[in-house]
Amino acid sequence: MMNKRISGFKEDLCNLCGVCLHECPVLELPLDEAKVEMKLLIEGKETRYVLQRCNTCLSCNIYCPQKANPYQLILERWNNLYKERGAPPLYYFVCPTEDRNIWQLLNLFLSNQERSWIYKWMHYVPKSSDTVLLIGNYTHLLPFIIGGSKLLKYFKPIDRIDQWEGGAYLYQGGYLDIVQKIAERTKRDFDDWGVNNVVATLDAVEYIFKEVHPKEMGVEHDQNFQNFDRWLLDNINSGEINLQNQLNLTVTVHDNCYSKAAGGYWETPRTILEKCGCKILEMKHIKKDSLCCGFGAGASWVKNISLPFDMISEGVKKFKEAEETGAEALITYCGGCLYLMWATKELLMSKIDLYHIIEIVRMSMGEEMNYPKDHVKRAWDVIAIITYSLLLSSFKKNFYIRKITYDKDLSTFKAKKYLLLRMIRYFFDFKLIRIVYAKLFRLLMPIMKTR
Ligand code: SF4
Ligand code: SF4
Repeated sequence: MMNKRISGFKEDLCNLCGVCLHECPVLELPLDEAKVEMKLLIEGKETRYVLQRCNTCLSCNIYCPQKANPYQLILERWNNLYKERGAPPLYYFVCPTEDRNIWQLLNLFLSNQERSWIYKWMHYVPKSSDTVLLIGNYTHLLPFIIGGSKLLKYFKPIDRIDQWEGGAYLYQGGYLDIVQKIAERTKRDFDDWGVNNVVATLDAVEYIFKEVHPKEMGVEHDQNFQNFDRWLLDNINSGEINLQNQLNLTVTVHDNCYSKAAGGYWETPRTILEKCGCKILEMKHIKKDSLCCGFGAGASWVKNISLPFDMISEGVKKFKEAEETGAEALITYCGGCLYLMWATKELLMSKIDLYHIIEIVRMSMGEEMNYPKDHVKRAWDVIAIITYSLLLSSFKKNFYIRKITYDKDLSTFKAKKYLLLRMIRYFFDFKLIRIVYAKLFRLLMPIMKTR
């Protein structure tokens, strides 16, 4: 029997003051307009801005003086819209239960080393005494950021793509009924494994298991959840992780949307970076006001064809702010943001370096990284996959997510030909073609984006 879903929005606390949408770093609505918009949202009527332009960044929950959780109201309304119109066809590629999803397509381009790490992570069945590390759908796309590291000796890394990061990225798009099914499925997985300790590489995933599943999906887990950054800091402080190199790097920090949940989670990554010898130069929008990497623009989609342009155009704002700081490198502590930000960096041809915080720690530990080669290659793998998926999606209709668990035939290791995708990726091996493609994308962006 399905558990009862509980709406996170507290309508009885909302006094329609409009502060949430007035302070929103994306919408910045005049107060009067914000009040009207909020009323429309509560009444379930068509909005003028929020449902079409919100980046699902979570800041409005912090701005609300009444603690009414306006963010959860937005998710409810997107959930209603999903029931009416379905998901855009481009979204097939982020559904691990659909053919031609990004994890399946990426198999064409993984190195043998990456394949062997992933194979092990996907097939290990945990024992009750294990501390499992959830690699997650997005770190899966960039396995080299953690694969082969000494950090893994403390865990059993697990990579179940059809756990959908606990539903984290679907939750942000308002696919709430699907998230509830995922919550129930992950509970079964954890209980069957009998594990007590679960560490997630993404802070978003820790939050989903600890807060969203019990409080909004009616699914209580019995495990202890921790996120990888907190684990890193504890072990750096105790001396278990030896940071032998001070990196002397000036950096700026991207705070991801989920970092704003549960009272804000901003100091842990900054402390880690300082311990690695990084000097932090902050961007204009940080912490509670931080801008999204661009991924969230997909939640408020208007036209399927515009989705990649909307996402990258939002990411442009982040790179602009990061470059303005004069820092040598932009650091993210979210693997979900990282893959999209690398695609953005390549399309913008931005010169600022871009790292995951795990890479910074590994470099400080004295571990060798193949930076930036691995990232550049993967960014163009991802751009090829998105281009290919966008072309295919032009011939498809909106859809509903019917299955949350993939069958074995859809294993991410099933090799297929995908001639068109191979051809696109082959052309991206030529620098001149990459330059022309990036320029064309930037030229089309103002015409194609919807915001
Ligand atoms: S989630 Fe972010 S972008 Fe959306 S309305 Fe709230 S503050 Fe604005
Ligand atoms: S959700 Fe909060 S900030 Fe927004 S209108 Fe209601 S009370 Fe005001």
